[in-house]
Amino acid sequence: MQSPLCWHAIDGCRLGMLSSLSRKGVQSMEIPGCLLYTKMGTAPHLTHDTLQMVQGVPVVAQFSFSAVAELHEVLAEYKEGMAKFIGMPESVLYCSLNDPATCCPSGYNNEKTVSVWGYGGRKEMTASTFMAIQQVIQPDWFQCLSDGDTIAEVISKKRAKKSVDRSLSFLDECLQLQEKSPELQKSLMIGVIEGGDVLEERLRSARETAKRPVAGFLLDGFGNNMAKKTKLELLSSVIAELPEDKPRLIHSIGRPDEVLECIEKGVDIFESCFPYQVTERGCALSFNHNYHLNPETAGIFFLIEVEEDKTNETVRRPEEMTSFEIYLKDKRYQDDFGPLMNGCSCYCCQNHSRAYVHHLLVTNELLAGVLLMMHNFQNYFGFFSSLRDALKEDKLIQLKTLISRQAL
Ligand SMILES: [Zn+2]
Repeated sequence: MQSPLCWHAIDGCRLGMLSSLSRKGVQSMEIPGCLLYTKMGTAPHLTHDTLQMVQGVPVVAQFSFSAVAELHEVLAEYKEGMAKFIGMPESVLYCSLNDPATCCPSGYNNEKTVSVWGYGGRKEMTASTFMAIQQVIQPDWFQCLSDGDTIAEVISKKRAKKSVDRSLSFLDECLQLQEKSPELQKSLMIGVIEGGDVLEERLRSARETAKRPVAGFLLDGFGNNMAKKTKLELLSSVIAELPEDKPRLIHSIGRPDEVLECIEKGVDIFESCFPYQVTERGCALSFNHNYHLNPETAGIFFLIEVEEDKTNETVRRPEEMTSFEIYLKDKRYQDDFGPLMNGCSCYCCQNHSRAYVHHLLVTNELLAGVLLMMHNFQNYFGFFSSLRDALKEDKLIQLKTLISRQAL
């Protein structure tokens, strides 16, 4: 089963369209693009109605197997699959193994099982239990079971080899089980490239996975402690081994500057956990991706914001905060009646101020998460739209300059 992918290369990036995405075969998505990050199929903080108010929502929603695995008995009883179960029968669903927002403890995988972590703790998955649960989820796409426990800063060659061997054997077993499952005939399986930072193993993983009838590839384990240079070199080498007619996905790469670097290496699809993480730390995305503006002006605007931060010692900012966001819990926003971001057309910026969201955050009102999520999602989805436009208009360099000025 193959996913029809039409694309053309611009400056090493792939611009195009992925069609026949769903089990019903109708929807399509543009690449480069991102998926909608969800918890159990629902966007965090948002209802179906409030999500509708966000512009540019991706066609494909991502949710994690680890969370749904705990519900599989209820789903099995229900019999009609996850999309109908969550009341969104038209959604295109991608089931990733883990939630990119949560860290998985290391050291629990073995030859026969991979451990996944849900609310109720650890569950050991063999290929057959994994596929039995996929059979009741009935996703449009799903990430195959794999041993991705290679996130430590330095892993041995032996451990990298094990991760590749085990992942290939899980893949073969899952492919055989899929063939026998009428419920999964229309679901697309994404093969997983493992191997940590060991080039030889990454290449073997890519070559061997590419020989199997998978619908696309997930470049796993690139979002963690890997040094930037190693990451980009590995990505280039691995992607050179992959067939060009299938999509390449990556998880845990969310910063706009890093997304750009990966796109230039030939990655097609990202997830959108980043705007969720920004929301959870009480921040609003404030980076500018309008490459039509004069980059000098955009850069100056940004530097002023940073300068102000240095003078403020009243509130400790979250450690993980990036230079693409502002910390709205900071006291200096209590009398700031401007929008979260100038020029933003989202519901929050059109109707509320920084001061109001600041108040909601300090009083722990749930509405803070709703408004921030709406703004952060819309801004982030808009960044991907700008990215595709920049490629179409041959202006990628302008967008890159603008983003790199904001990446500190
Ligand atoms: Zn906004």
